Amino acid sequence: MSFSLHGLAVSPGIAIGRAQLVSHAILEVAHYTVREKDVATEVERFETARTTVAAELVTLHAEASVPGAPSELAAFVEVHAMLLADPMIAEEPKNLIRERRCNAEWALTQQMEAMVAQFDEMEDAYLRERKQDVVQVVERVLKALMGKARKLGKRAKDEDLIIVAHDLSPADTIQFKNLKIGGFVTDLGGATSHTAIVARSLAIPAVVGMHHARPLVRDDDLLVVDGTRGVLIVDPDPRILEEYRLRKEELELERSKLKRLKSAKAATLDGAKISLQANIELPQDIEQVRAVDAEGIGLFRTEFLFMNRDELPDENEQYEAYKAVAKAMAGKPVTIRTLDIGADKNARALRSLRGAERQAPNPALGLRAIRYCLAEPQIFLEQLRAILRAAHYGKVRILIPMLAHALEVEQALAMVEQAKAQLRETRHKFDEHVEVGGMIEIPAAALALNTFLRRLNFLSIGTNDLIQYTLAIDRTDETVAHLYDPLHPAVLKLIFNTLQAGARAGIPVAVCGEMAGDARLTKLLIGMGLRQFSMHPSQILEVKQQVVTADAETLTARVARLLKSEEPERMRELIEKL
Ligand code: PEP
Ligand code: MG
Repeated sequence: MSFSLHGLAVSPGIAIGRAQLVSHAILEVAHYTVREKDVATEVERFETARTTVAAELVTLHAEASVPGAPSELAAFVEVHAMLLADPMIAEEPKNLIRERRCNAEWALTQQMEAMVAQFDEMEDAYLRERKQDVVQVVERVLKALMGKARKLGKRAKDEDLIIVAHDLSPADTIQFKNLKIGGFVTDLGGATSHTAIVARSLAIPAVVGMHHARPLVRDDDLLVVDGTRGVLIVDPDPRILEEYRLRKEELELERSKLKRLKSAKAATLDGAKISLQANIELPQDIEQVRAVDAEGIGLFRTEFLFMNRDELPDENEQYEAYKAVAKAMAGKPVTIRTLDIGADKNARALRSLRGAERQAPNPALGLRAIRYCLAEPQIFLEQLRAILRAAHYGKVRILIPMLAHALEVEQALAMVEQAKAQLRETRHKFDEHVEVGGMIEIPAAALALNTFLRRLNFLSIGTNDLIQYTLAIDRTDETVAHLYDPLHPAVLKLIFNTLQAGARAGIPVAVCGEMAGDARLTKLLIGMGLRQFSMHPSQILEVKQQVVTADAETLTARVARLLKSEEPERMRELIEKL
């Protein structure tokens, strides 16, 4: 039966393909119905996998108990063995298989999610962290069940694979970079959540905030994802399907026409030069950056190097990653942002560190970004040394996120000097003159600009957070997404003031939030005085198309008038006419 669901369009385009339901924590788990007569075999399959893991843990325990082995290791294995024997893991999945006739992997992950939710509720931080053990035990059993975890993407030969999930974290989504995914939909999430940002950087259609997609869609259902209108069509009828196929082809044609703009100069009709730079998450994104000939990297979100791993990347690993980007950009600017961990971006290797073992009451207002780095100076220094060393190979700049206080700038700058002193001592090659800039993404910073203009070499406006904190709208929460408004007069004023103050002080100001990549806003931003945009490589040519048809002088006059109006509807009308 065909039906459609609506959500928030976060990454444009159309994907047509088969549904792959994914479990929140373990991406590879499939969901299918087992036949009545196969239920007993499925239960047995589960039991065999569980006893295999129990035997593995006995061997591990013996190995961990030899003299000289760290004592925590044996204790750790004991906790896992205890959890494995707990009826919640040993028995309950079997009941689920019998009651719901679902496969063993699915039953187990459903049970795991229920347990993780219970752990999340616990007051005691130590107990709350034990949910990691539950996840690890479940992962072991899943591996035994599947022989080797089934990898996503295997089924996608001629049809796209479409991920349907309750929620995906930025850490989950970044893993799609190595898989062939046609599109995705999630029940939770906001338009500028980092999950949505990663979707845009993958240039795959995505819709979030669907509310009920996961319970209603089954594995292998035929789906159409319209990432421009925010619609998911399940089991479309042939006529609708044909219409979407045609639309998809048209879009592909439009995209390939845009390629002609690759070598065009990014300048307005009246000669204002506009720098179009790229946002990246991982060094491998450089390929995409070169394909559109971006003028530099305006934002390298380094926190993605820290995700999906148990150990932090050390100084050398980071240095190699930053150096690879610096070299590949061959003298073009590479703006490396220091670790912006926290809020919706989490890294499990950092969880045991300060501030992360407790659930922050309000993570977006908590120990995030520069606040975290100043609280963990060793991690910060390690990253700064890696960046400074990489700067020897290109035009690298350091960008500090989430600044609000003069003291934070001063401490960060002092740490940069300390990192340099350490490198001198160890006789490493590095660039003494690396520029240091700051993100303007907290309203307080946009209102007290002199503090930052005086101390930093450049600024970059992070509109995603600036909007979130100005309007008090959680950027990841779909229930308030309709109020997340980049064109709110207060937001526009903060951006305008920042650009104007930068120009007066002779300090360059870029925009690297999602507004910079929205071609509908290009002319508005040029009229506000913006000359440096940074966005996902996939958006650069579309924005360039706007740039080459703009007249900066006319836009400046029109936008100055438009900004005087505080009537949102009137402003919207005027922006559309630009
Ligand atoms: C922003 O806040 O606009 C920004 C560019 O940073 P991030 O999206 O990574 O928070
Ligand atoms: Mg930000």
